[in-house]
Amino acid sequence: PMEEEPVSATPPPPSPPHFVIVPLPAQGHTIPMVDLAFLLAERGARATLVVTPANASRLRAAAGLAARANLPLEIVELPFPPPAETGLPAGVENVDQVTDYAHFLPFFTALRSLASPLESYLRSLPSPPSCLISDWCQSWTSDVATRGGIPRLFFHGPSCFYSLCDLNAAAHGLQPQHGERFIVPGMPVRVEVTKETRPGFFKEPGWEAIHEASMEAMRTADGAVVNTFVGLESQFVSCYETALGKPVWALGPFSLYNRDADMMASRGNDNTSDVDAQTWLDEIDEDDSVIYVNFGSLARKPPKYLFEVGHGLEDSGKPFLWVVKESEVISPEVEQWMSAFVLRTATRGLVVRGWAPQLAILSHRAVGGFVTHCGWNSMLEAIAHGVPVVTWPHFADQFLNERLAVDVLGVGVPIGVTMPVMLFGDEAVPVTRGDVARAVSALMDGGEEGEERRRKAKEYGEKARRAMEKGGSSYESLTQLIDSFTLQAMETTEQASQPPPHFVLVPLAA
Ligand code: UDP
Repeated sequence: PMEEEPVSATPPPPSPPHFVIVPLPAQGHTIPMVDLAFLLAERGARATLVVTPANASRLRAAAGLAARANLPLEIVELPFPPPAETGLPAGVENVDQVTDYAHFLPFFTALRSLASPLESYLRSLPSPPSCLISDWCQSWTSDVATRGGIPRLFFHGPSCFYSLCDLNAAAHGLQPQHGERFIVPGMPVRVEVTKETRPGFFKEPGWEAIHEASMEAMRTADGAVVNTFVGLESQFVSCYETALGKPVWALGPFSLYNRDADMMASRGNDNTSDVDAQTWLDEIDEDDSVIYVNFGSLARKPPKYLFEVGHGLEDSGKPFLWVVKESEVISPEVEQWMSAFVLRTATRGLVVRGWAPQLAILSHRAVGGFVTHCGWNSMLEAIAHGVPVVTWPHFADQFLNERLAVDVLGVGVPIGVTMPVMLFGDEAVPVTRGDVARAVSALMDGGEEGEERRRKAKEYGEKARRAMEKGGSSYESLTQLIDSFTLQAMETTEQASQPPPHFVLVPLAA
């Protein structure tokens, strides 16, 4: 008799885990989390980005890319509370739309109203998501996750070097007085700060409740996701993990997900400039010869300092690509000055007005230096493309990111500021055209030191690329992160079998 074939009981393939991602509505926070959503979706996980309508409209290009690539990435819109409730001007849904200091606290308070619609959305799912990844500033998500029994990771935007300084300074109650210099305790390298440059967010009077809620949300999270890579700051990643006492997933540089021009141009999707930076750069013969100047999405320079930057670039004699915000051209006088400047420098400079395709610029072979405000995204994007930096920190974590670039990594020339400035350019920092010209020349002129800086930057760029490739540290950490939630998702195959919609509008009432 014929032997019976053994019945093979092949288990069904595990369903992909579902990550719900809640960014802070600020370009420097949302952009990396959108990259993270793409990274997860590309690796088969389902990713849902939760944003408000005005912010969703900035993501249409990204949503289009996801849809065309058939990625399991969706965008869910939650309504932003109306002005009558928030006291904010109508339409303000992003930090970069806040133009009055008095509106920051109401803005961060208003975000808490998203808890109820987020819970409605989560309840509307056939089964709970595998994990919530929320910006550390969105501390209200911790209650939502607890009530829904959903694991939660917080996304911390800055370098681990900064985050470790912050934890250590807080643990030791570091309170330097004005004029004093202090060594941050517990750091594996010597880090000196002043009252003005010490780590810590939300330090101003009135922000105590928000500060405490954010710290508590970090304490109670199941782990952290950071945009960095082990090859860049290995000791700080591991010390941060130890200090935090929970897993730290170093998955960056996230920006390297964007591999082609469409992807790079979709970032931030605020491309208001009609100047073609790409064509201009293509026409530059010499590699690494252009200095790129951009101070991120928030900092605005008053005319006096805008002019010093311009004159400094002119005096440096180097080819430059300078990004000027529309909100910096505040009067006919500034407009006139800009026109004259553009005419004078047209043979070797390009001024981009508005939002620039920063990633496309930094990855261009012609760009060899970057004058940056040391926002962590900008800094890491430069490093990931092997571009050394002139460091001009403005506020928040930027002073410690500068220390990392200059003292630890050896890829930066400091412009020499020691005091923070406020967002809207009410700055009293004596940066002159001489400082700009000196720092730019030091960065671009080469010489032994310059060559060494460039060599190191390129080496880190190469390490960054390898970290994100199969077998690299960030790639494999992402695999582990996804795998750790896959088991749990096996029980929720029903949910995964439904194709995600690309936009969902959740009503305000729960
Ligand atoms: N960015 C851009 N074009 C601009 C200005 C900024 O693409 O003209 C992007 C930049 O690439 C980075 C982010 O906006 O990803 C800014 O984040 P960062 O942490 O550097 O600074 P922030 O804006 O938070 O101060």
